[in-house]
Amino acid sequence: MSDCIFCKIVEGSIPSYKVYEDEHCYAFLDIFPANRGHTLVIPKNHVKDIHEADAQTYGRVASTAKVVADLLYAQLGSEGTSVFQMNRDAGWQTVFHLHMHVIPRWENDGLHKPWDIAPAAESDLLEVLQQITK
Ligand code: 5GP
Ligand code: ZN
Repeated sequence: MSDCIFCKIVEGSIPSYKVYEDEHCYAFLDIFPANRGHTLVIPKNHVKDIHEADAQTYGRVASTAKVVADLLYAQLGSEGTSVFQMNRDAGWQTVFHLHMHVIPRWENDGLHKPWDIAPAAESDLLEVLQQITK
């Protein structure tokens, strides 16, 4: 896609800090990192998000994210890993080329979950489950 910055990164017309590459996917450092070593994994072919990707493409991105997560964990001495994958405006996506964030984590690294944890009412769980599975 001609106006997509991640397609331009794959093509090489925008520079990037390559972490890993295979036949179908490309991984590079996020230039606005949440933490040291924050890496993005993308499919080389343009696809917008989880809903437009076919299962094979999504699976390739996920399995490459696993390779990258293990690489960062081994090489950076991190203590954990968070993987995020945003979709569409409502899902906090800002670059509309499918990508997984692989973020090395350390105890007390200052990052925090973006949601508050509170128990759901059983009636709410049953109601949404009925809608999902009907
Ligand atoms: P999203 O918000 O869509 O889940 O993630 C997009 C990510 O792309 C952000 O974390 C942002 O920092 C990163 N990003 C945006 N523009 C560039 C760029 O030109 N190069 C790199 N390496 N990362 C970028
Ligand atoms: Zn693209």
